[in-house]
Amino acid sequence: MNDATSAIERDTAMKLGVRVTRIETIPLRVPFRVPFKIASGGARPSSEQLIVRVHTDAGISGVGETQAWRRLGSSETIASLRCAIDELFASRIVGRSPFALASIMHDLDEVLYHAYYAKAAVADALYDLQGKLLGVPVYELLGGRCRDTVDACAVLTIKPSLEETIEGAHEFARRGFRSFTVKIGTDPAIEEKLVRKMRETFPDVVLRVDANASLGFDAAFSLLRKIEPFDIDAAEQPLAPWDLAGMAELARRVTMPIMADESLASPQDLLEIIRQRAATVIQTKVAKNGGIVGMRKLWVIADAAGLRIYPGNHPSTSVATASVLHLAAAWPGELLAGPFAVGISGAFAKDVVQAPLTVDNGAVRIPDGPGLGVILDEDALQDMRMDK
Ligand SMILES: [Mg+2]
Repeated sequence: MNDATSAIERDTAMKLGVRVTRIETIPLRVPFRVPFKIASGGARPSSEQLIVRVHTDAGISGVGETQAWRRLGSSETIASLRCAIDELFASRIVGRSPFALASIMHDLDEVLYHAYYAKAAVADALYDLQGKLLGVPVYELLGGRCRDTVDACAVLTIKPSLEETIEGAHEFARRGFRSFTVKIGTDPAIEEKLVRKMRETFPDVVLRVDANASLGFDAAFSLLRKIEPFDIDAAEQPLAPWDLAGMAELARRVTMPIMADESLASPQDLLEIIRQRAATVIQTKVAKNGGIVGMRKLWVIADAAGLRIYPGNHPSTSVATASVLHLAAAWPGELLAGPFAVGISGAFAKDVVQAPLTVDNGAVRIPDGPGLGVILDEDALQDMRMDK
């Protein structure tokens, strides 16, 4: 062994000896540029995000992001997320190495069942820490980089008029987006017209629809049959999260593929989706599925079952967007252009990092800095804090 090798080994051993000292939870209210409307509930003026910072005795901290995004399939509040992390998780993590990720996540599963929304930010913050301590991007910890950019889709939220939605689509198209998700589930007559108009206006784009679990079987069957002629790549979560039998029946009766989103939290959910053939496309999200660790399990299972993967996110800042980018970077297989960047591509009015990620020509470049490659902007945190 030469001197350089032994120096690296000493340096690595020192880094592996780093210990977590404290976990900080920072609740934020991040404003939308335009109120964000999906099928259920009113238009949302802002989103409640939780930034988690894991501090160490090396003076380096890692960051992760989750959120209280209430809708069918999730019931989190900022208070419940902070309770899980501050009162149940922190004592299981403080004093341990950030490299003990698998063991820590196993312990957190024993402390609190499910709770993917709370675990997501903790797990991603530990990955960020590992990368920062070793001076490498997170994708290097996940197997190395397989791509330089990740394609994103544009999400067309529900607007008061069809014309406004089409105008929003033109704006995304001008910015280079070639893949669109149209939110449906409130007015089938208007939505049939909207999908027809989208296909006429943009004959070459990839078009998907997303009902956010809001339709009954008959309504879903009726609408999906009507929009079959418009080359729909996938119909996302037409039915309630628990109605896998209904999704499977729809999948047999309509020509477009069915996608599961709200139905999919755990690996066991995915096994049941596969068993029932309830969907052939899955959407994952940082918060919904437990961060990089949780999403990766789902991608491996989905790939083995021959399902397509649609990388998503609830509206998120650059922090959770970066989590998806690093996982996608290290994924050698096919990925659909997903809504993982909805927050940074125009939905959010503000970000929490010093150099926010951007969408260029419909794709996001994978950050190259250590860890997740994003650095928190302390002024922005202060500005959006809910508890100041
Ligand atoms: Mg969805």
